[in-house]
Amino acid sequence: MTVRKEPGFRESVNLMFNRAVALMDLSPGLEEKIRVCNATYIVRFGVRLRGKMHTFTGYRSVHSEHMEPVKGGIRYATSVNQNEVEALAALMTYKCALVETPFGGAKGGLCIDPRAWDEHELERITRRFAYELVKRDLIHPAQNVPAPDMGTGEREMAWIADQYARMHTTDINARACVTGKPLDSGGIFGRVEATGRGVQYALREFFRHEEDKRKAGLSGDLDGKRIIVQGLGNVGYHAAKFLSEEDGARIIGVIERDGGILDPEGVNIERIHAWMQKHGTIKGYADTHFTEDGAGLLEAECDILIPAALEGVINLGNARRIRAPLIIEAANGPVTAGADEILRQKGTVIIPDLYANAGGVTVSYFEWVKNLSHMRFGRLQRRQEEARYRLLIDELERLDRYLGDAWSMTPDFKQKYLRGADELELVRSGLDDTMRAAYGAMREVWHGRDDVHDLRVAAYVVSIERVARSYRSKGL
Ligand code: GLU
Repeated sequence: MTVRKEPGFRESVNLMFNRAVALMDLSPGLEEKIRVCNATYIVRFGVRLRGKMHTFTGYRSVHSEHMEPVKGGIRYATSVNQNEVEALAALMTYKCALVETPFGGAKGGLCIDPRAWDEHELERITRRFAYELVKRDLIHPAQNVPAPDMGTGEREMAWIADQYARMHTTDINARACVTGKPLDSGGIFGRVEATGRGVQYALREFFRHEEDKRKAGLSGDLDGKRIIVQGLGNVGYHAAKFLSEEDGARIIGVIERDGGILDPEGVNIERIHAWMQKHGTIKGYADTHFTEDGAGLLEAECDILIPAALEGVINLGNARRIRAPLIIEAANGPVTAGADEILRQKGTVIIPDLYANAGGVTVSYFEWVKNLSHMRFGRLQRRQEEARYRLLIDELERLDRYLGDAWSMTPDFKQKYLRGADELELVRSGLDDTMRAAYGAMREVWHGRDDVHDLRVAAYVVSIERVARSYRSKGL
């Protein structure tokens, strides 16, 4: 397969799917069933604002219902269209299967520039959009559970949850109709950071395997690795923050929509982020290392490139000039199918989107379970765990006294050990475990099969096989 013309996003995902199924033994009927998008609902609704009626177009696309509810974010951007929403819904199906969250794939979008509206206006628009989806069960705790995506966050999810609750006053599970909510509306600790945290865990896992690093021509651990991150939204910001603060990686480049900063000495992510929060742009932060040509920085030399913004940013136009030996797709679809082929030939290792950014939906799963159980994680066992740890510490203290100067506990051991895990720790541990397990599954296919040469195909093979199994067991 050679991709000569740049495919659209939906087509790109299909090409990647096709590359994987060509290596699998699926019946043609089943292959088609998995590939196609089941349904896309388009709604046009009016909201009276600023003295006139404004019409908005929204989408909710359901790619696969082999498991329900279906899951996937709602995006607010002017670029939202049916093709994009369907491509993203398909990616959600494969993503959920890969990280074993028990969901089908879906995605939603509203064609809007969220920065063009005030908060109270956005609330009215969001509630109206939610109303349209709720009344058709396209938002529902058992059937269709949205979450944040580009241009949306906790605030929008709280409005959606409240809108659903108003329309289903006796539904005891109402809060599980959407994830990514603020804590006081039924959210979970660690959901905001989850996708960026997942990127960090994915990279840590990659760097645990000598053979995998060697394929990218890298060695050692993350300490000192030069990273360029594109997009300092929720995902890019958290990934860059954790990798630099906790793993010693050096963020040498930050790319935003209106320019980029490249500093081989490393940049301060917190400060750039604070600047952007205040000024809404990266411009003006630093004169010396700033360039208007942000996209050009994708081609700069570094060890790891993290595209964490839009789809299609690495394409037939620039793929040949990309110098990073390792790309981790924090965004959905940042590398087109054409670029993917060029990069593979060059030997670039790509950690694919359906794995790399699955931290978000993984923690969404935890939130959904928390909402259905009506109890925060750790509430039952935390103190009981502490009591058991206390028994051990008491014994150790006895030994300490007995041995005198010969042995003593390390000063903060007792304090650290005694503390039972709170919700945030449990969420992080569940996420870490998920990312390691999914990597293991991909890796087994990547290294175990002679006809699989890259992580993307490996990821698709694992996911499609799981979806196929689920269809087969249903007798479809
Ligand atoms: N929008 C995120 C994604 O693309 C999260 C989806 C979710 O949590 O359901 O994976």
